[in-house]
Amino acid sequence: MGVDMDFLLTEEQKMLKDMVSKFAQEKIAPVASENERNHRFPKEIIEEAGELGLMGIAYPVKYGGAGMDYVSYFLAVEEISRWCASTGVIISAHSSLACDPIYRFGTEEQKQKYLPDLLSGKKIGSFSLTESSAGSDSSNTRTVARKDGKNWIINGSKLFATNGNEADVFILIARTGEDKHNLSAFIVEKDMPGYKIGKLEKKLGIRSSSTAEIILEDVVVPEENLLGEIGKGFKLSMITLDGGRLGIASQALGIARASIEDSIKYSRERIQFEQPIANFQAIQWMIADMWVEYESALLLTWRASVMKDKGMNYSREAAMAKLKASEAAMFCANKAIQIHGGYGFTEDFNVERYYRDAKITELYEGTSEIQRLVIARSLIGKI
Ligand SMILES: Cc1cc2nc3c(=O)[nH]c(=O)nc-3n(C[C@H](O)[C@H](O)[C@H](O)COP(=O)(O)OP(=O)(O)OC[C@H]3O[C@@H](n4cnc5c(N)ncnc54)[C@H](O)[C@@H]3O)c2cc1C
Repeated sequence: MGVDMDFLLTEEQKMLKDMVSKFAQEKIAPVASENERNHRFPKEIIEEAGELGLMGIAYPVKYGGAGMDYVSYFLAVEEISRWCASTGVIISAHSSLACDPIYRFGTEEQKQKYLPDLLSGKKIGSFSLTESSAGSDSSNTRTVARKDGKNWIINGSKLFATNGNEADVFILIARTGEDKHNLSAFIVEKDMPGYKIGKLEKKLGIRSSSTAEIILEDVVVPEENLLGEIGKGFKLSMITLDGGRLGIASQALGIARASIEDSIKYSRERIQFEQPIANFQAIQWMIADMWVEYESALLLTWRASVMKDKGMNYSREAAMAKLKASEAAMFCANKAIQIHGGYGFTEDFNVERYYRDAKITELYEGTSEIQRLVIARSLIGKI
């Protein structure tokens, strides 16, 4: 189904979108439901995505990226999430949460060392901020890094790391001082001694992406793996999450569009009262409302993506895009089940997966309440 705003795209962006859409339909769609049922990480798909340049779309060619812009990257996340929201978040967490801080805050040595393998998809990245005591209040981090000669020794545990089970490289946030916001970021490798994967979460949705606990027992991290300035890890995380939120907004757009496209197809085919249910105004209105929700969210996401490309401050706009897109995904997935009737409640149709996948977009990378907080604070200012 054509999106009415494609005329705003450049030829290069349109070509990428078509290429990703073809890849997703040929390679991702046929295995998405089965992988989901088996909680299976789509390793071979991620490898192929790497070969196509999709693990580093918005990064310079000199570090192994595809040299495109953020609008292209977010379009790709939406196209992939249209067919599989798990694959969408695997790519988004890798690219926005792990590669982005290295590119933005890393030294030249760190970029040369880590980016080529990450951007080509040879290695997978993850970002670990959340802890049991530090959810929405991420500054309440208990994991501690203390300096010991030329190394940092890190102790603590992290929760809910997307890609945690498969990642080779982690951006890890730890406390480096008493002050609430005295946190620092570190690049941690999975083979560093003392580093262990703990519990793997069993989830309502996005089941073929992994969500892992990370246990850190005297992990020895060389001092050159401090990312950015010491004590500036909280700010680094917030800047990183602005970009991450646009990845999640794009994932949510993919889920919303999947819900709409499947609903239109089903409503044309399903006959009741001797006619397709698409003839009933009740169904038509649901589809109209779904499309308005989707395109409103799309406009907000594109606006924020263009602002990111232009190097503007886009924190509020990213929060608005994520808030709207995640609510649009929930709205559309709910209506999609309604349009499919009882069949929508079964595993015979994909809409039940969309419904389960949609919920996480209102929770991670800041809940909807936290997005509202960010938006309101930026409007009202400090009181
Ligand atoms: C599948 C999955 C993947 C994830 N991936 C990652 C990842 O890769 N890396 C990572 O670091 N984290 C990750 N997370 C963690 C995620 O970002 C947090 O779960 C989320 O930020 C919310 O934190 P919490 O779960 O502790 O909820 P809490 O902070 O305990 O919130 C509980 C409720 O209170 C509300 N609330 C809290 N504070 C306020 C407030 N000030 N005002 C109003 N309401 C408030 C919340 O909105 C929510 O409704 C992931 C989580 C999941 C489930």
